[in-house]
Amino acid sequence: MAKTGLKWTELKNRATPYLRVTGIALLLALLLFGGIRVYTLHTMGDRSHDLILINPWNPLSETGYTPRLTTMEKGVQANRVCAGALKQMLADCREGGRKPLLLEGYRSLDDQLVLYDAKVQEMADAGLSPEEAEREVQRHIAPPGRSEHETGLAFDIVDADYTELDNVQGSTPVSLWLAENAWRYGFILRYPDGAESITGYDWHPWHYRYVGREAAENIWTLDITLEEYLALFYSNAAQVTVDTPR
Ligand SMILES: [Zn+2]
Repeated sequence: MAKTGLKWTELKNRATPYLRVTGIALLLALLLFGGIRVYTLHTMGDRSHDLILINPWNPLSETGYTPRLTTMEKGVQANRVCAGALKQMLADCREGGRKPLLLEGYRSLDDQLVLYDAKVQEMADAGLSPEEAEREVQRHIAPPGRSEHETGLAFDIVDADYTELDNVQGSTPVSLWLAENAWRYGFILRYPDGAESITGYDWHPWHYRYVGREAAENIWTLDITLEEYLALFYSNAAQVTVDTPR
């Protein structure tokens, strides 16, 4: 008995330093993991709201995001996150006699479905095959579940003197002002001219998307798209020097 007791004490004495080292290592690992987790939660928090990416390849359903809405002028609904910024932007745009017209904001999945199907039908009626009709419509309108309008962060703003959604819209006083100033309010021109291969859509001079002040300034300054911005700033290889605004 005595012999066994001695062995146990000896074993315990020998093991103590190792246990201590293991304990410290565990504690350090927990601290490191906790730190990473807090950092990730912080960045994912930003990403999942202002910087949410919805495009033909990134459906809203995969983000689990549900916007909290509020009603703006003309009954247009907006995500609460950007309602104040949108209101201020429209007010400032109106100074100097410009006439911005808020055409569209939040659209539900059902609204998008109805809009999309109607356009496809229109194209099919004009003689396109079902595949051709869908392909043509998708150059301008997102399929249901893949429209930024479903986040409540995207808005179609036109000039009240010219309300057509075409390239001419890009040279209206409202459009020209927005192109130069929207970033100050946290908005970007989401589908710039010549970026169709990146964004999935051709030029939409009326479609503005809220991304937050900092991201908007960077995107505008660097003259890039949201897709490119996320690749630059939210990948491990992201190292970008931002110049002062133009
Ligand atoms: Zn739009």
